[in-house]
Amino acid sequence: MAVAIKNAELYHLTRDQKEELSTLLRDQRVETSRSRSILEAIADGVLVTDQHGEITLFNHSAERMLELKRAEVIGRSIEHFSGLFGGIALAWMNTINSWIQDHGSFHPMNTFSEQVSLDNGNVLSVNLAPVINNNEFFGTVSVFRDITHLIEVDRLKSEFVATVSHELRTPMTSIKGYVDILLMGVAGELSDQQLRFLRVVQENTERLTILVNDLLDLSRIEAGQVILSMGSIDLSDLIEEVMEEIDRLTVAENKSMQFELDLPPDLPLIKGDAERIRQILINLLGNAFHYTPSNGNVSLSARQTGEEIQVDIKDNGVGIPPKEQERIFDRFYRGENHMVIATAGTGLGLSIVAKLINMHNGRIWVQSSGIEGEGSIFSFTLPLFTTARKAIKVR
Ligand code: ADP
Repeated sequence: MAVAIKNAELYHLTRDQKEELSTLLRDQRVETSRSRSILEAIADGVLVTDQHGEITLFNHSAERMLELKRAEVIGRSIEHFSGLFGGIALAWMNTINSWIQDHGSFHPMNTFSEQVSLDNGNVLSVNLAPVINNNEFFGTVSVFRDITHLIEVDRLKSEFVATVSHELRTPMTSIKGYVDILLMGVAGELSDQQLRFLRVVQENTERLTILVNDLLDLSRIEAGQVILSMGSIDLSDLIEEVMEEIDRLTVAENKSMQFELDLPPDLPLIKGDAERIRQILINLLGNAFHYTPSNGNVSLSARQTGEEIQVDIKDNGVGIPPKEQERIFDRFYRGENHMVIATAGTGLGLSIVAKLINMHNGRIWVQSSGIEGEGSIFSFTLPLFTTARKAIKVR
């Protein structure tokens, strides 16, 4: 009897547990299918890989944006995907691969963003993140967004600004010319007050000319209208020419400054657009000159680092506080230091410089303690002119 009762109890227990489990399973299935439906309904393309790089989810928007059928990609390795797209998404795929190969190579909050231009002319932004639970790597999720129209609007805006600034240059030239003539006394003797007023007009016309020229330059670069004419450049020669211009600046502003050059005699040729690299150097040296008090020191050194040349421009001026450093490459950003406020400027110089260096496949960065007198070091890299180097070696 006792055994029969025990068995009956056990039977009930097992049945209850089975029912509980099946409810749980059903709920989980409903939850999974709900999550899948949400992912399917999202307007952004979603691609999920497991921890081995195998694609496990490719939603409807991803199919539409990447013009690929889900059957072609699900279950395939991400490597296979790279074959379908050629080299356009190389950095994105390399990041996924590096995460898969070395699970310790990322931080849980790591993300990766890139723009991918497709053959059909569309531009997608890709945001990639690792999927981590309890420190365990489960795979990656990539979200694609079609930003073709945003890019187009941005290009139209830059084109508009370029046209307006170009149109502004003609009247500005004539205002500047006539003010200069008046100041020369060609139109008759001027009273002290007239002279003072005209000098204010002259000064502000010059400021406006700099602003319009910088705006024109930046918007042309952003609208993709600036094409670099690449060639081999002897940086030492170019720096010598630039220094002549900087010398003229010190004379014009009547401010003395000690300039030092440290250029190795065997500095290899670099690959770039000479006019644009001159512009980069003048801008950075001009800033070092302007934001360093009289009798300060500015040094320029260049050296080869791997397949690049690194140029460092160091001054002992007012420096840049760390909180300003991330903003100085933004358009129109100007620092709050008294020397910056006292100097005429547009806040466009460094954003132009950064864009030009980027177009040369180089990098730019700044180091500064932010303490007055300790100054700043602006460093940038430019690629070597490799074929010229090879040609020299062959000879
Ligand atoms: P601008 O010189 O016209 O202000 P830039 O874009 O060239 O514009 O520079 C942005 C800001 O970066 C400057 O306003 C200044 O605050 C800071 N800056 C740039 N170079 C230096 C430097 N060598 N020393 C100190 N501050 C600098």
